[in-house]
Amino acid sequence: MNSLSRRAQYLRAIGIELWQPRATGRAAEPSARAAQSADAACAAEPPADLEAWERLRAEVLGCTRCALHQSRTQAVFGVGPRRAEWMVIGEAPGAEEDRRGEPFVGRAGKLLDAMLHSIGLSREVNVYIANILKSRPPGNRDPRPEEVAACLPYLHRQIEQVRPRLLLAVGRIAAQNLLGTDAPLGRLRGKVHRFGVDNVPLVVTYHPAYLLRSPADKRKAWEDLQFARATFAQSMSGAPADGHRS
Ligand code: SF4
Repeated sequence: MNSLSRRAQYLRAIGIELWQPRATGRAAEPSARAAQSADAACAAEPPADLEAWERLRAEVLGCTRCALHQSRTQAVFGVGPRRAEWMVIGEAPGAEEDRRGEPFVGRAGKLLDAMLHSIGLSREVNVYIANILKSRPPGNRDPRPEEVAACLPYLHRQIEQVRPRLLLAVGRIAAQNLLGTDAPLGRLRGKVHRFGVDNVPLVVTYHPAYLLRSPADKRKAWEDLQFARATFAQSMSGAPADGHRS
């Protein structure tokens, strides 16, 4: 299967019909060259950085800072290349993630992968994926403020070490906690926010689990992804990436 028909398959998975304008080369399948450069970047890492990363992973896997450690099967650290230009942030592990120790697996994970593939990204090559909470809240309830307060420093350290050029917050919980706001998701979409001392561009979209329940909003998620891709391209070109979607 060539890359165009593969892309058509990903677009279909996220509910986008084929009459969408064909993409330019930027949206093509992640290239072998991108994979090689990710490998090369990791191979060139100072050993101290790798040690700091492994120390952080060990801290998370053994963490007892909040009560969620009592009910989890295991903490879910994150997945993807340790140095990645994109970082996707979700809410918390669900039942399948808790069982398998990886974020965004199961149906929502498959949809997220299709969304990423549709803009030439993947967790294997150029996206690091993590959650606000590393341990599963029982019954998939919303994270409590004290749990977020205990866990968020881990995510901040991950972001510092991954050094993404763009953050994509998926879902209300991720967006509100990263941005420190109570604003509804609808008001946070379609804008470039800034995160941390490095002012990393941050774009907000729907959580794939929500899109599975509300497929009519997949088209809006596709618009968000295109907006994120344009923001990333602007940021990489050195142009100011602030603004709103037109
Ligand atoms: S949710 Fe975070 S703070 Fe709470 S136990 Fe898990 S890793 Fe620790």
